[in-house]
Amino acid sequence: MDATYGLQLGHMWESVRLALLCERKYGALVNAWADSDGTGGELRRLGAVDLVRDVVTRSLAGRDAGEARRVSEPTAERPLDERGRESRGGDGAPCPSDPPDHEGGELGKSLMLESSVLSTLRLSPNIRCFTFPRGDISRFPQPWPAGALRLLSHYLLDAASLLPVLALDVQLGHRVLDLCAAPGGKTLALLQTACCDQLTSNDVSASRTGRLQRVLRTYVPRDAEEAGVPAGGVSVRTRDGIFWLKSAEERGVYDRVLVDAPCTNDRHSLHEEENNIFSRSRMKERQQLPALQTQLLLAGLLACRPGGVVVYSTCSLSQLQNSCVVEAALSLATTNHNVDAQACDLSGMRALFSHAFTFQEEEDRFGETVIPHVAANFGPIYVSKIVRLS
Ligand code: SAM
Repeated sequence: MDATYGLQLGHMWESVRLALLCERKYGALVNAWADSDGTGGELRRLGAVDLVRDVVTRSLAGRDAGEARRVSEPTAERPLDERGRESRGGDGAPCPSDPPDHEGGELGKSLMLESSVLSTLRLSPNIRCFTFPRGDISRFPQPWPAGALRLLSHYLLDAASLLPVLALDVQLGHRVLDLCAAPGGKTLALLQTACCDQLTSNDVSASRTGRLQRVLRTYVPRDAEEAGVPAGGVSVRTRDGIFWLKSAEERGVYDRVLVDAPCTNDRHSLHEEENNIFSRSRMKERQQLPALQTQLLLAGLLACRPGGVVVYSTCSLSQLQNSCVVEAALSLATTNHNVDAQACDLSGMRALFSHAFTFQEEEDRFGETVIPHVAANFGPIYVSKIVRLS
């Protein structure tokens, strides 16, 4: 890591290295089906802030003060369409299709404000996640049973891992595929948007899909009539993601695909000896990771409909596993499958969340990276948002 990331991150590496070796920070994803107001109140009482609402409040305040040009006003490089959204990404990628107006469910109504600001940046609505402010290293309590259904109140996860879900821009009625879903943090966040009409959550590992099933059992009502549970239910599958490279049946059918790929999991690998991906016995597997990641992203691109969105994410700092994978998959999609796709500019999202997370400074044509920092010890999380054009 010193040799590779020292070169890649330059003067930032020493502080990233220190943060990686220190205790990480968590975010608390609030469960909408377990007295979310009560949970939110309790977490606020402990000093935590709602990451997404906080972002909205800041962006509205900035807009009032004329400081939020990126969010509210067209610029020469990033023109807005007639509904106030940017019509093209920074590197020329067109927007995904227009989201329908928000209508259904209590979740949707109570969070209209968030939805309107988030849709300006094309971020999924309705997700509530609390974090302690920068510099505050308090810990969250364990989840407790809450609400009439006695489901768990919140799910602890790296708050930066919500960025891929937010960037996916799930809107009402969408059919969504979570290609590498276990143990299920992002699947749960996708469900909190209350927007998926159908959600397919897949993972190659049976033991890990078992963990995913447990998360669903303890957080999500069984009754599909409950507001926000996908009408078509959550379909949990145990397949090699490469299946979607070959499947004619499921080609081009999903509105949104999340490819949260297996990776070197840098933070975890520094703290866990057992089954460590950097061990000698797993060298071959490690060397083959970029090829596997490229195939999985390619599979996601083929499963997505033209006009739909694919988000690729990892929890590694490695360029070989991040931007290089996106570049290779986009190229293979064109040459081998006649599928054109383009990475979107995520600098708007970066600007919105820069008070909460530290982002890598070096420019990356394909995505953004949250880098660990002792004052905001989240990540690493890499996010690339891709629109399938044809
Ligand atoms: N998205 C998950 C979450 O938020 O909880 C974390 C996913 S983890 C980073 C990567 C997952 O990819 C692992 O659970 C692993 O079992 C799965 N995986 C590895 N190879 C795969 C493949 N060929 N097809 C599908 N899933 C795969």
